[in-house]
Amino acid sequence: MVKHNFYAGPSILPREVIESTADAVLNFNDSGLSVLEISHRSKDFQAVMDEARSLFHELLSIPENYTVLLLGGGASMEFCRVPFNFLKTKAAYLDTGTWAHKAIQEAAAFGEVDVIGSSKDQKYKCLPKGYVIPADADYLHYTTNNTVYGTEFLEDIESPIPLIADMSSDIFSRPIDVSKYICIYGGAQKNLAPSGLSFIIVRNDALGKMQRHIPTILDYKVHVDKESMFHTPPALPIYSALQTLRWIKKEGGVKVMQDRAIERAELLYNEIERNAMFEGTVVKEDRSRMNICFVFKPEYVELEKEFLDFTLAKGIVGIKGHRTTGGFRASCYNAMPISGVQVLVDAMKEFEQKHVK
Ligand SMILES: *Cc1c(COP(=O)(O)O)cnc(C)c1O
Repeated sequence: MVKHNFYAGPSILPREVIESTADAVLNFNDSGLSVLEISHRSKDFQAVMDEARSLFHELLSIPENYTVLLLGGGASMEFCRVPFNFLKTKAAYLDTGTWAHKAIQEAAAFGEVDVIGSSKDQKYKCLPKGYVIPADADYLHYTTNNTVYGTEFLEDIESPIPLIADMSSDIFSRPIDVSKYICIYGGAQKNLAPSGLSFIIVRNDALGKMQRHIPTILDYKVHVDKESMFHTPPALPIYSALQTLRWIKKEGGVKVMQDRAIERAELLYNEIERNAMFEGTVVKEDRSRMNICFVFKPEYVELEKEFLDFTLAKGIVGIKGHRTTGGFRASCYNAMPISGVQVLVDAMKEFEQKHVK
């Protein structure tokens, strides 16, 4: 049966990315060797690293004075590396839920952390509004897409101080103005590659300004100077990332990814609003295009398990909501075709016909 993969992460990748990765595991570049067993210093792997980093620049229009790093870790690793490298005395953070909160907790060990806005009191069903960005902070950190709660900043924040963003779950889903940021980072496993990999886009001149000792492996400058090859990188996820980047380019780039994201989100949110049994959990203007959260109206909540079984029988996988929020979450990353969302919408309609009171 065809599967429709709505997992939040690790998550759907284009089928051809998975196939070319599988091919390279068996026989990389017709070398008779697997990508799993070649030196990361070999010419063939160096070419993978170089092309992946240069496609980042091309697809996101990253200016020349920035460096793209592909390092082992994941977004949680960068929650720590970011303040190590950028927090001198004070940083401003926006609290928009689970991941933002973890970034805040990590930064608090490095200096003053000013949480200038939080939607905690609204149970993170919206983004913080009306916050004031302090001019004396080293940076403003925010999470562009809140994977757990389903809210998203659909545009770069206007800020008088440099921005740093966790873009784990919406990177490559819209054009961004990289020049507003000194650092953009994320775990690769939402929209790019298998897990184990961090991507970091860093402005070169923002580095090397710390008084504190930074352990070598945590020092972005070391990785910049070594062009992301300071030590053995996670070769297989980087190989897959390259396949995804080529796929995005072939499909027409991030603007096309954005158009598709808008189309998918409209289709599903419209059905959530129309359907008499469901309701969305996020205020309309802050709804994520990547992670679409919804619940049964109170009179139908006892049907949750039945709905999950019903949709599973149609090949729909991964729509159970996060354990902190309950309900449902359909993650619609770049690789999700509109036809997959249509299958979910049709299932919601059919379920309504059977069960609506
Ligand atoms: C998944 C996720 C993380 C955590 O990523 P890890 O690679 O597991 O550390 C952090 N931030 C956001 C926005 C995420 O979606």
